[in-house]
Amino acid sequence: MIYLDNAATTPVRREVLEAMWPYLTGDFGNPSSHHEVGEAAARGLAAARESLAASLGCRASEIIFTAGGTEADNLAIKGIALAAPRGRHVITTAIEHEAVLESCDYLRRFHGFEIDFLPLDASGLVDADDVARLLRPDTTLVTVMHANNEIGTVQPIERIAELTRAADVPFHTDAVQSAGWLELGLRTLGVDALSISGHKLGAPKGIGAVAIRGAVALEPLVHGGGQERGRRSGTENVAGAVGLAAALRLSAHSREELASVARIRDIVIDGVLASVPEAFLTGSRESRLPSHASFCFPGTSGEAVLLELERWGIVCSSGSACAAGSDEPSHVLVALGIAPEVAKTAVRFTLDTTTTEADAGEVVARVTEAVATLRSHR
Ligand code: PLP
Repeated sequence: MIYLDNAATTPVRREVLEAMWPYLTGDFGNPSSHHEVGEAAARGLAAARESLAASLGCRASEIIFTAGGTEADNLAIKGIALAAPRGRHVITTAIEHEAVLESCDYLRRFHGFEIDFLPLDASGLVDADDVARLLRPDTTLVTVMHANNEIGTVQPIERIAELTRAADVPFHTDAVQSAGWLELGLRTLGVDALSISGHKLGAPKGIGAVAIRGAVALEPLVHGGGQERGRRSGTENVAGAVGLAAALRLSAHSREELASVARIRDIVIDGVLASVPEAFLTGSRESRLPSHASFCFPGTSGEAVLLELERWGIVCSSGSACAAGSDEPSHVLVALGIAPEVAKTAVRFTLDTTTTEADAGEVVARVTEAVATLRSHR
């Protein structure tokens, strides 16, 4: 099998599982318990928090473990917006993950927030100057994703952060897709809050984290026993936290590794564009995740291409995992001005460091064949 759906999820890495194992077995305690089994778990959790903080360039006290990227986004967006006294205005983009869009919509529907969407160019890029234009005295939060899951476009986060910092407005970025591929770091990027998810990185599903600068006020969403300094109650997923920290440490790729993945991605992009008539790349060519290749194949259906490729052992996605299975065209592609019937022909290939040049060649050949077959049946 050639697995090219790493943006949907990744297998758990052996080293991650090995790091987690003690906390699922001998050191299984509740980290709030005052006995040795509990204290061993508490030490494991504290070490995971320190490690994650080092990877994310923040203080350990600024890390909040969550049950994944969706919860991390919800907590950052609703928690910051509801705690902030400035007003009820949020700036975002129309191509965010549903976790962000639906959190903003919740603020709109139940708390009277106004949501402004930044304009996007055809490749999904935000122009930071538009952030300056939309910022208002009552803006409570700006949330713009680091890298898009469907089209791989990487936003100018540092530049936006300069503007939000100058205006003293909290800035959240969803870094679920960029973690492991791009330089993260709360202070390097200049953001106030950043979400990540374990299962995109070689840790299990159901663990994530949000780093929120200590100075930013946060209203908790989950109330209970006061864990995570009262910001997210519930007995901590110690093994998950340890796994997430290990996965992020292990995914710190060298410059050479990243260049090698990008080179193989380019074999896919250039090969497909050269050999599939009318195919086009979605997202930015230049400002793009090194692991991400996404296309539209007019005259086909993305689902049908996916099924054809699966017959050859190539596993990919016909859009985002959340949109897959639904008959709706992707909200991301539609926001870029792609016609709904063309948006339904989208196919995404997301690589990892094990993808080879031979895999890339096989993908190009099979995609060419699949698209030709499907078009011949029209
Ligand atoms: N944000 C982005 C950009 C994503 O791609 C995803 C998952 O696909 C999420 C958030 C949600 O993360 P999780 O699956 O951990 O809830």
